[in-house]
Amino acid sequence: MAQLSDRVLNMATSATLAMAAKARELKAEGKDIIGLSLGEPDFNTPDFIKEAAIQAINDDYNSYSPVDGYVELKDAIITKFKRDNGLQYSRSQIVVSTGAKQSLANIAAVLLNPGDEVILPCPYWVSYSDIVKLNEGVPVEVKTSIDHDFKLTPQQLEDAITPKTKMIWYSSPCNPSGSVYSKDELRALADVLQKYPNIIVVSDEIYEHINFIGDHASMAQFEDMYDRTVTVNGVSKAFAMTGWRIGYIGASEAIAKACTKMQGQVTSGANCIAQRAVITALNEPPSRVQYMIDQFKVRRELILNLLNDIEGFKTNVPEGAFYVFPDISHYFGKTLKGKTIANASDFSLFLLEFANVATVTGEAFGNPNCIRISYAASQEQIIEAIKRIKEAVS
Ligand code: PMP
Ligand code: GLU
Repeated sequence: MAQLSDRVLNMATSATLAMAAKARELKAEGKDIIGLSLGEPDFNTPDFIKEAAIQAINDDYNSYSPVDGYVELKDAIITKFKRDNGLQYSRSQIVVSTGAKQSLANIAAVLLNPGDEVILPCPYWVSYSDIVKLNEGVPVEVKTSIDHDFKLTPQQLEDAITPKTKMIWYSSPCNPSGSVYSKDELRALADVLQKYPNIIVVSDEIYEHINFIGDHASMAQFEDMYDRTVTVNGVSKAFAMTGWRIGYIGASEAIAKACTKMQGQVTSGANCIAQRAVITALNEPPSRVQYMIDQFKVRRELILNLLNDIEGFKTNVPEGAFYVFPDISHYFGKTLKGKTIANASDFSLFLLEFANVATVTGEAFGNPNCIRISYAASQEQIIEAIKRIKEAVS
């Protein structure tokens, strides 16, 4: 038996991927599972992007790319940052990676020393905490409340800061809560950070376009925050390109250079065909993918209406992404169909077993009172899934 490292033994398996794998397994056994666990658009990658990839293959793009990405892709990213976010980056500030997940892993690897603290407003995206721990950082979870739309307040930020605070990581629109920070809310957090010039902000904006209030704000838009904000983005969500694995950052030159060095020893440049396709994706205006966003909005209304009709599901109104994150603590301590529900994990497993619906426990996102339901599924699937959930809990 191989003796595995403490590093991997101490690491949690990604709960989103684990639940998706479990749902796939049950489906293969013939069970009629509706998978609402994975954050993955149910659309296909748009044809204009696919055609660019086919063209790249025919043009013999088959060699290693520059570690930090093709120059043409960096230029497309620069165009995108300027056009969509009013952010000015130069080529030396951009690094393309194998998904935003690798972008985040790079950031942790190049910035954290053992014991450095990273503030994670809860709920946070599932992998933040383990990426931080893997790099010997200490996640500092800060609870937020559903009544405050799961948003971090300036006072909470102030209270969480210690001499060891190195970074704060958050996503807006947020996975899993769907919350979107307004410009004023980000400014209020930035005001707190003014007193702590060494703290770096990691602003994960991968759901930027999946925003139903139409107002996306970036922390780096504030002149006084620009240098110490790493803006993370990618094409997985808005362009329905999860499997293509392209993410990117805009950062200070020093951080970008360090990420490139790290990536050069770990994976090299991202997939060359996918990079060529993303040049086309980013050079087009975001209106090309608006049809998907419109659908997500319709589904959001649908799922909220259906969930609000079930006793014990408390929801906020997510303003972006494609998740609802209901508080289901009403069921804790109750027995449903002979199963005692002690926590959100029990509840999520109960739904899998008795409703054949896959969700993800909120514990994985740092909030043990909630479950995450992805509505990146057809309206028929959403209607059927929530009907089954309602039956199972009644
Ligand atoms: N950040 C957030 C908030 C996410 O939900 C995800 C999930 N895909 C990622 C980063 C990573 O995305 P990817 O690696 O597919 O670019
Ligand atoms: N980000 C998606 C999710 O939260 C994809 C799965 C993953 O990368 O963990 O479900």
